[in-house]
Amino acid sequence: MNNTKKILIANRGVIAIRALRAAKELGYQVASVYSTADKNLKHLKLSDEAICIGPPDSKDSYLNEAAIISAAELANVDGIYPGYGFLSENAEFAEKCKNSGFKFIGPSHEIISLMGDKIQAKNLMRQLGVPVVPGYEGPVESKEQIEDEVKKVGLPVIIKAAAGGGGRGMRIVRELSELWDAIEDAKSEANAAFGSDLVFIERYLEKPRHVEIQVFGDGRGNAVHLFSRDCSLQRKYQKVIEEAPAINIPDEKINEIYQISVNACCELNYEGAGTLEFLYENGEFFFIEMNTRIQVEHTVTEMITGVDLVQAQLELAMNDVYNFDQSKIKINGHAMQCRINAEDPNSFVPSPGRIMQIHRPGGYHVRFESQIYSGYDVPAYYDSLIAEIIVKDLNRDRVLNKMKMALDETVIEGIKTNVDLHRRLVTNDDFREYRHYIKFLEEKMVNDDE
Ligand code: ADP
Repeated sequence: MNNTKKILIANRGVIAIRALRAAKELGYQVASVYSTADKNLKHLKLSDEAICIGPPDSKDSYLNEAAIISAAELANVDGIYPGYGFLSENAEFAEKCKNSGFKFIGPSHEIISLMGDKIQAKNLMRQLGVPVVPGYEGPVESKEQIEDEVKKVGLPVIIKAAAGGGGRGMRIVRELSELWDAIEDAKSEANAAFGSDLVFIERYLEKPRHVEIQVFGDGRGNAVHLFSRDCSLQRKYQKVIEEAPAINIPDEKINEIYQISVNACCELNYEGAGTLEFLYENGEFFFIEMNTRIQVEHTVTEMITGVDLVQAQLELAMNDVYNFDQSKIKINGHAMQCRINAEDPNSFVPSPGRIMQIHRPGGYHVRFESQIYSGYDVPAYYDSLIAEIIVKDLNRDRVLNKMKMALDETVIEGIKTNVDLHRRLVTNDDFREYRHYIKFLEEKMVNDDE
């Protein structure tokens, strides 16, 4: 009897090769999809099948639901792996997969839809006992009414899109006189980016850290946490360096938030990998959103726990295997990830083009997740993430030294990358001494007036 599972990887780049490796290690068969701009991606050559799903523009390829479902039919797969970005948090697509007879490797479309609306997510989490950022989530009726609401919340506030993602559609308001214009701006940006102009208001925290909790549920009321990550090194609300675990938080406080996060997942019958994102300021946690997918930074959690999260996702979805026991999940050491982007390190403008030469870092507990090779052309159409360097060591100081070494070893010629910026970050005294916060990079490290 042949019981081999077959999946379709509905993504590209770093997460596509990550998923291919995980699936192959489990003995699965893999079909992959690609756009005409991506035919040289390494993982395609290592897949059992590679199916072209359209032209370069994502909306015609990686966001083209019908083309992906057709590829799944053609390849006769059991499940579809969405990765992150693209269709990974698209509830409609998850439902289409299911209705077409394919397992969407992720939570149910109902949960994705719920968490995709940040207003609903906040209300639900509040009911489940999760501390959320204070704010106003009701309707915007008039200038006077909304000014009253903001006075209750207290300035400064941040206007956010209910359907938001990728740091877009957010506006900080420091004076009541700026409020109405900021709401109008946020609404039109949200409408253009997400097709919904629903916005809400939150207290703006000035110097928080971004601390998130990795969870994993079996879909039947059991769930565990895999500790925390700190993703406070950001630019334009996008993570640049991530680490695990988040340090300098009292045990009692972090244990409480682990428990609250797990309870919420149990209540929701959450299935698969997910992340509850919090801001942490003055010793308090405030929930901002839940990501119902694997995240770019899942790797640092894998390094400290020894758990392969992508394999866990695949095995739960494909073979109904859930092997987690909270008492057996332990933290071992400290891990950090630098996101290597094809971009100008000063202007942050994307830098596509041919990689003429690449030298990867190596050594004990040094991991390089990437598809790039000498002669590979980085296409101009997609996110500029081209590689992740992940290291683990006994403690954060050692990790910083090891990351510096790994960055020094890394050579990528032909395109511009942010490797040098990372070198400056990991040797920066404030970062080394853990004095950073979410605006640190923008305020202290780069002259960024884009
Ligand atoms: P997105 O879904 O677009 O990534 P998030 O709600 O996850 O948006 O927020 C992204 C980042 O924006 C956070 O990591 C943080 O840096 C910043 N942010 C969000 N909400 C607040 C807030 N209330 N106060 C201060 N910063 C915030």
